[in-house]
Amino acid sequence: MRKAIATVSLSGTLDEKLAAIAAAKFRGVEIFENDLLSFNGKPADVRRMAADLGLDIIAFQPFRDFEGMPPERRAKVFDRAERKFDLMQELGCDLLLICSNVSPESLGGIDRAAADLRELGERAARRGYRVGFEALAWGRHINDYRDSWEAVRRADHKAIGLVLDSFHILVRKSPLEAIRSIPRDRIFIVQVADAPLLDMDYLSWSRHFRNFPGQGDLPLLDFMTALQATEFEGPLSLEIFNDQFRAGSARSVAVDGHRSLIYLLDQLRARTGMAVPDLPRVPPRAACLGTEFIEFAIDEGIAPQFETLLLGLGFHRAGLHRSKSVTHWRQGDINLVVNTEKEGFAHSFNITHGTAVCALALRVEDAAATIDRATRLLDQPFHQAVGPGELDIPAVRGLGGSLVYFVDAKSPLGKLWDIDFEKTGEGGAGAGLTVIDHISQSMHYEEMLTWLLFYNSLLDVAKAPEQEIVDPGGLVKSQVVQSADGSLRLVLNASQSQRTLSSRFLSETFGSGVQHIAFATDNLLETVKHLRARGVKLLPVPENYYDDLEAKIDIPAEQLAVFRANSILYDRDGSAEYFQAYTETFDGRFFFEIVERRGYRGFGAGNAAIRLAAQARQVKEAEVLSR
Ligand code: MG
Ligand code: MG
Repeated sequence: MRKAIATVSLSGTLDEKLAAIAAAKFRGVEIFENDLLSFNGKPADVRRMAADLGLDIIAFQPFRDFEGMPPERRAKVFDRAERKFDLMQELGCDLLLICSNVSPESLGGIDRAAADLRELGERAARRGYRVGFEALAWGRHINDYRDSWEAVRRADHKAIGLVLDSFHILVRKSPLEAIRSIPRDRIFIVQVADAPLLDMDYLSWSRHFRNFPGQGDLPLLDFMTALQATEFEGPLSLEIFNDQFRAGSARSVAVDGHRSLIYLLDQLRARTGMAVPDLPRVPPRAACLGTEFIEFAIDEGIAPQFETLLLGLGFHRAGLHRSKSVTHWRQGDINLVVNTEKEGFAHSFNITHGTAVCALALRVEDAAATIDRATRLLDQPFHQAVGPGELDIPAVRGLGGSLVYFVDAKSPLGKLWDIDFEKTGEGGAGAGLTVIDHISQSMHYEEMLTWLLFYNSLLDVAKAPEQEIVDPGGLVKSQVVQSADGSLRLVLNASQSQRTLSSRFLSETFGSGVQHIAFATDNLLETVKHLRARGVKLLPVPENYYDDLEAKIDIPAEQLAVFRANSILYDRDGSAEYFQAYTETFDGRFFFEIVERRGYRGFGAGNAAIRLAAQARQVKEAEVLSR
């Protein structure tokens, strides 16, 4: 299937959109009439621009309120169509897309619609054009693809074909079986869009909330599987009306779009086992086996303070990098890397972001295959100079310009700590921290769908339903992405308000990134005792929280007193239990969380608001002190 995108999906002027579409390696584009009308140039200029960029103008749209008009209005409708054909001639485009009539004046009747389409087909064929007909979910008489297909079938004209749009079909929950019996040469174009499940009218839902395949909740793969049965090989085009996309960068949205199509076709091939035209072999999504390490970019001046915190948390300095000012800290199965280099990636990251997590390294089965997949998905590979004999760990750019490294056990990457580091021989009893439980990343609201797609398309992870969390400064959207066995859990947070902690994090660290890291323990109370004995300051939890907890959950008084005395937050889900404690924020940037899970699968969403309020209070106190 030939991958394409409609200009309406992107921000900017038409020339900017075309440049972004070409830069994202699309070869086909649908031109939206509004983009053409608002463009400061002639259609012939657009034709030339597209040709120079190597783009094929595959369709011109939309043509509205055409079929089934009363006799007195009919001639006028055909005149309008001829004007569109004139424009298409200048554009050098041969396919006009019609969406089903929404006018209260239209009369309905499938044969009337078919007769109108047949006559239009005659006129189009005379000029060498074709016309595609689409059922809008809110069309007045034709709003189901089975009816638009019946109209096209009865029109029985070679210049008249069908447009299938996944959004209109899936939001109405139309059965998909009938797609299988449509002859593929009668389908002129397929438009794909996903969307979140929302309870609203089809028109508003479609005009504002469509998103790229994989970003929403519609059963797109079922739609594609039915389409695949027809052996359709024509254009597969993204037609996405989305306010966020139209406010974002055209270039990055276009790349997201192309990535989403490659991922969709890859899933289709995996599901059906059938060949998908125009899709190169892509290694499968990488199963994530855990986090190998988290790397912090830190200024030399602050590093001692941070290392004191790590010691307090029970980490020991396990190794020193052979050629760089980089140390390896370890506890249980957790590896942290502290980078205080004065050049290279971590250094420049530190200059722009301050003390921050500059890289995550994920354990996968096959790091080379993972990078191969990333590259095919248009992710951005990263390389930097390494010392002689040292490992060149494969990486791609992740959130906020940070890196995502991939290591595996089957290559020398599995001996990373021996090859690149010299052991210190230091050790320690630790504080009972075992593994990284989850990593929380804050980002701008507009970026959330981008990173959701990035993780989902590359790694074998699934998204949990989105949640909203109340921060004293506004609502925060929270989206969990995790592997089935929990070896990788990422919590993506975004807020539209400037005043939430999540937003403050963005403005203070100059961009998106890791806001907190949660370590797991088998016994939170014991761990908290260790931490306190070593002088680690925990986030104080307000008294009200425990009063409320007592009222909400049936909990023995002694246990509650222990929670209260140790700043422990608690949640219960059936018989599953969750215990949480937080460190104070380090250098105003990020903090650590310690969790104990007893069969619990969530993230204590109910407690997040309490934690955010406690942190907001600390920020305020710090501001007062610094005045
Ligand atoms: Mg459409
Ligand atoms: Mg957490």
